[in-house]
Amino acid sequence: MAEETTLEKAFEVTADVLCEAKHVVVLTGAGISVESGIRPFRGPGGLWTERGEPPMDGFQRFMADPKKAWEDIVQRRTQYGDDFTRSFREAKPNPGHYALAELEELGIVKYLITQNVDNLHRAAGSKNVAEIHGNMALLRCLGCNARYPRDQITLETLPPRCPKCNGVIKSDGVMFGEPIPSDVLDICQRETARCDCILSVGTSAFVYPAAGFPQTVKRKGGALIEVNLYETPMTPMCDISLRGQSGEILPELVKYVKAKLKR
Ligand SMILES: [Zn+2]
Repeated sequence: MAEETTLEKAFEVTADVLCEAKHVVVLTGAGISVESGIRPFRGPGGLWTERGEPPMDGFQRFMADPKKAWEDIVQRRTQYGDDFTRSFREAKPNPGHYALAELEELGIVKYLITQNVDNLHRAAGSKNVAEIHGNMALLRCLGCNARYPRDQITLETLPPRCPKCNGVIKSDGVMFGEPIPSDVLDICQRETARCDCILSVGTSAFVYPAAGFPQTVKRKGGALIEVNLYETPMTPMCDISLRGQSGEILPELVKYVKAKLKR
């Protein structure tokens, strides 16, 4: 009973902080995807565990010979089948994704920055989404950053070219050695500058550039809320840590926020 009261109090306080903040930005990582059955890259059952890690200079290799790089991609797809991209296509958003989309619709969340490449935030209805590592459902022009759904671009001639600017097209997924797309980086910097509250979900130690966002917001006196199954390196910095599955915690949090907005 006492534990329940503590948890209720934690949701109350979190909802307060979210409702009082002027510009809430969400950061998400692999934890929320795993709850949707997205196959991890590393660890048991990981794609890279099975097929080997991609080269650390993948982007440089791609740029050196985009035609050859695309031929290899097509060949790998024939060899291994389409199971990896299929796992992306078949994965569905979980209640955590929908809760974050709802918080945006309620006007609480202003932007969502994710390290995930699985498109599940957009599928759940989140509109303002910055994908630091790209989106595996999309292709991107290296000339003008235009994104295209995969089926919109023909692979008859390789490398495929941008219908707008004739630039070389690659997967939107950011390769090792590839800079974060400049438009995404601009959004991240703009949003961090405006942000006075970060809601961090399912991510432990952020990789650059997201690693710096919580510190920056904290330094400005902003609030840091964490939703994670485990303690993370960020936990000591957090104002509030909610332990549990994001698919359970976030929908509950939405209820408290809605109750507060009604008052
Ligand atoms: Zn282009």
